[in-house]
Amino acid sequence: DNAQPKKPDWIRVKAPTSKGYMDTHKIMREHNLTTVCEEAGCPNAGECWSQGHATMMIMGEICTRGCTFCNVATGRPDTLDVFEPGRVADAVKKLGLKHVVITSVDRDDLEDGGAEHFAMTIRAVRKRSPETTIEILTPDFLKCAPSALETVVEAKPDVFNHNLETVPALYHEVRPGARYFHSLRLLQRVKELDPTMFTKSGIMVGLGEKRAEVLQVMDDMRAADIDFMTIGQYLQPTPKHHAVAEFVTPEQFKSYEKAAINKGFLMVSATPLTRSSYHAGDDFARLREN
Ligand code: SF4
Ligand code: SF4
Repeated sequence: DNAQPKKPDWIRVKAPTSKGYMDTHKIMREHNLTTVCEEAGCPNAGECWSQGHATMMIMGEICTRGCTFCNVATGRPDTLDVFEPGRVADAVKKLGLKHVVITSVDRDDLEDGGAEHFAMTIRAVRKRSPETTIEILTPDFLKCAPSALETVVEAKPDVFNHNLETVPALYHEVRPGARYFHSLRLLQRVKELDPTMFTKSGIMVGLGEKRAEVLQVMDDMRAADIDFMTIGQYLQPTPKHHAVAEFVTPEQFKSYEKAAINKGFLMVSATPLTRSSYHAGDDFARLREN
């Protein structure tokens, strides 16, 4: 049966009502921008948006992949909007962001996977807001020539994030169409192309993975020179999506955090409500101060 474990107290969050939240909402709509916060029904939206922290999702609302944890629609995507990079840049300026996270759907239909569009967006934001640090959360460019990744790296984002999402044993169920070692290698190549760029990756837990598998992913990430790691609780967006296998306790998260720090990551966020973009700016600013 599909009965899901009951949501524990530590997952519940306040409904978004603040003025800051409404202002962010307005700026997103005025600029005709999609956010992953809304697409994913992220539990942190009330908190993040009250401070203007919205993660913009570029290249449309339809994805060519169908990851079973993800609420984004699968299908034939829209044509790329050449004005989107400019609108993202305007919104970042209006929000006055110190740090922005930009992500996208997967575009297997495009020869370069959308690499040039990503690069254009980075350059547009940089031009309008030179002080803003830019973090991108990219697709895996699985079917693209190596030059696709080079195009994105050459645009010089401050943080290059690509999520491994889960342990390799669950890939066929959770992330069909993706390859664990390809994703790992992608991040390793970013570091080879530009050793000054920070790399970041994350997984969700509660999908049915074992602790030993999570520790192995950490080792694999360190072997690929990945700097930052995030671990958060998987939440099922609708009953049609992958079932929640368990709610990992805050104590278990603490222990994952400790393990990751011991393995040498520069920055680790491991809490039930951690998302790849949660507090990304604060964490990055703290790191740069040290
Ligand atoms: Fe958006 Fe990320 Fe905050 Fe969630 S954690 S609301 S996805 S910025
Ligand atoms: Fe969702 Fe990304 Fe998977 Fe597309 S590739 S289904 S946007 S997680």
